[in-house]
Amino acid sequence: NECHSLEKTFTIYSQSLKDKLIAKSDLESDLRHALSTGKQLSMVYQPILNTKTGALVACEALVRWQHPVRGYVSPNEFIAIAEQSALINLLSRWIIAKVAEDCHRLVENNIRIRMSINLSRKQFSDAHLVKRLSQEKMTLFPADQEINLEITESALFQNTQYAISLMHKLKTAGFDLSLDDFGTGYSSLASIQQFPLDNVKIDRAFICNCVENPRDGLFLQTMSDLAHHLNLTITAEGVESSEQWQLVSDKGIDYIQGYLISMPLPIEKFIEFDPAP
Ligand code: C2E
Ligand code: MG
Ligand code: MG
Ligand code: MG
Repeated sequence: NECHSLEKTFTIYSQSLKDKLIAKSDLESDLRHALSTGKQLSMVYQPILNTKTGALVACEALVRWQHPVRGYVSPNEFIAIAEQSALINLLSRWIIAKVAEDCHRLVENNIRIRMSINLSRKQFSDAHLVKRLSQEKMTLFPADQEINLEITESALFQNTQYAISLMHKLKTAGFDLSLDDFGTGYSSLASIQQFPLDNVKIDRAFICNCVENPRDGLFLQTMSDLAHHLNLTITAEGVESSEQWQLVSDKGIDYIQGYLISMPLPIEKFIEFDPAP
């Protein structure tokens, strides 16, 4: 009996493992196809406001994939798949080209704001990153477009010395740099001072219970003080209620982003977005 159930468990396990492998290989070739046509992929933009004034100051570009069979696939999932193959290079080129095109549309509509673009860990460790990005900045984007690159802790702490020198080169090429999802990794608050950053983004895990949980409130205050002490600005992501906006504002956090203000929007909708309706 025990054996039987074990066997059953094993079958189920190996079946699900197999399913996972199939799913992975399918998604990889499906993504390759999506990239060659460009039709299933799109970019959306989430507004970022000045916490005190509510003015629109920036937006974050987020990639979307509408799979013909599976429907919506999370970028967390397909970026990981792209990173395991060479597809990440094609994908990041596609993203930059699309974002650049949309920056021109914003300028045409008199919307001049900073554009924040995510770099995955693999993208960040690409030896040609600086050369490619500075070329793309000069040839594809509107002149004077402010571009912020969001990098996660795991990318920075992979190889600290390499990361620091790469970041200096990106700064020289005219990019601003944000540390994304701060607080979720292993780095201590103080260890971020060695990197040439402009901004830190506090992960939404610290925002979602910050009104109820005094420890999260204290963390936000500490982070905010530290960021300002290091001459960095600080952004709260995942702000979903006006109480959270108020608290984050009380802590002196400079910028906010979250569903309370807006979901990430396709460019047409973003152009119509009014921060103070
Ligand atoms: P991220 O860079 O931390 O992006 C913020 C994520 O939080 C986005 O999820 C956004 O839709 C979501 N979000 C924003 N406001 C709220 C809120 O109020 N509540 C909640 N619950 N969520 C909120 P998304 O678009 O699913 O992206 C997930 C992650 O995938 C991103 O995390 C980023 O690491 C990665 N990603 C997305 N687009 C790109 C891209 O173009 N390139 C790269 N390299 N990575 C990307
Ligand atoms: Mg981000
Ligand atoms: Mg983030
Ligand atoms: Mg996050």
